[in-house]
Amino acid sequence: MRLHEYQAKRVFADAGIPTPDATLASSVDEVVEAAEDIGYPVAVKAQVHVGGRGKAGGIKLAESREEAEQVADEILGMDLKGYHVERVLVEEAVDFVNELYVGVTMDRGEGKPVAMVSTKGGVNIEEVAEEDPDAIAREHVDPAFGMHPYQARKVVYDAGVPRELANDVASVLQTMYQLWDDRDASEVEINPLMVTADDEIVAADAVMNIDDDALFRQQELADMEEETFEDDLERKAGEYGFDYVRLSGNVGIIGNGAGLVMTTLDLVDYYGGEPANFLDIGGGAKAERVANALDMVFSDENVDAVVFNIFGGITRGDEVAKGINDALEQFDEIPKPVVVRLAGTNAAEGREILNDDLVTVEETLEDAVQRTVEYSEEEAQ
Ligand code: GDP
Ligand code: MN
Repeated sequence: MRLHEYQAKRVFADAGIPTPDATLASSVDEVVEAAEDIGYPVAVKAQVHVGGRGKAGGIKLAESREEAEQVADEILGMDLKGYHVERVLVEEAVDFVNELYVGVTMDRGEGKPVAMVSTKGGVNIEEVAEEDPDAIAREHVDPAFGMHPYQARKVVYDAGVPRELANDVASVLQTMYQLWDDRDASEVEINPLMVTADDEIVAADAVMNIDDDALFRQQELADMEEETFEDDLERKAGEYGFDYVRLSGNVGIIGNGAGLVMTTLDLVDYYGGEPANFLDIGGGAKAERVANALDMVFSDENVDAVVFNIFGGITRGDEVAKGINDALEQFDEIPKPVVVRLAGTNAAEGREILNDDLVTVEETLEDAVQRTVEYSEEEAQ
């Protein structure tokens, strides 16, 4: 479960991490009222679950009442990478001279949490990791002992954080590790941790992901959950009972079983395509479930082609094939090409049944994915 920026900042602030003065607002009037209260300049920030909001136009500064009105009007109601912006955080704008990155996440390779610090904050840290891996200092933590103060100081020092800031940054990092541990977080991140001209540090952004399997013992955080549903598609997926994650590409993916869907995602990537979603329709693939799944992927306007990867088990391949036919026959015109790969029980029978006026049938997963990626490229042109 991912908290919103405003929620994560509340958690961070309660733990003693400096955050800007801020108010949540959902109308232009509320933004102006908050801005007048806080004092100009303010930053107005879209509260949706996407990274890179700044670049995408979801964060703007306002120096006056008129500007606050104007940016509130621009950001509220906008579509940010497929998310409808219903709320913004109005914040005291920070006048910064530097942007740092600090975070704690799980290093699955090492089987340990890792603390990371970089002086190249403010930009996408994955890009930094790729282009300039040495710019991120790392320190693994033994969860049995927690983060020792010397470890926090070491990683801050290794990152090249200026001496006069080192103590404060190390203390923020230690608090973050404590939160990671106490709150069953899978990830906590501040990017950027802004540095002001008089060497104050402020968490200008906040990311906190909580391990879903631990939510039962994190009641306070679990209670924040319903507020985080705002992608229409994710809401729909909840209604249909699907596991769905929206991604940024244009290849729609439907499968039964999480592993199968993950494999399909990897293959789409391998063949040069970009997955538009993760969609696991779970056990069974009766016409109604298939129709609902198609409704989901076709509702995503980024989708240019769809691949079905179905493994027949208890639900046999011929039943799945009927489901796909029935679902597609409901369309006057099928919006985008659909490719199907069937394996498992009665797969051959299923392939026979599939109506190839409606879908492209491929025997192997590799062929199906390659074909879908080709379609998506043609459609995208
Ligand atoms: P993200 O793009 O979704 O990660 O949103 P962030 O909260 O990290 O903001 C992105 C960028 O917007 C920051 O790196 C800053 O450059 C800018 N920004 C955000 N808040 C402020 C602020 O209070 N003052 C100023 N001057 N810039 C800000
Ligand atoms: Mn950020």
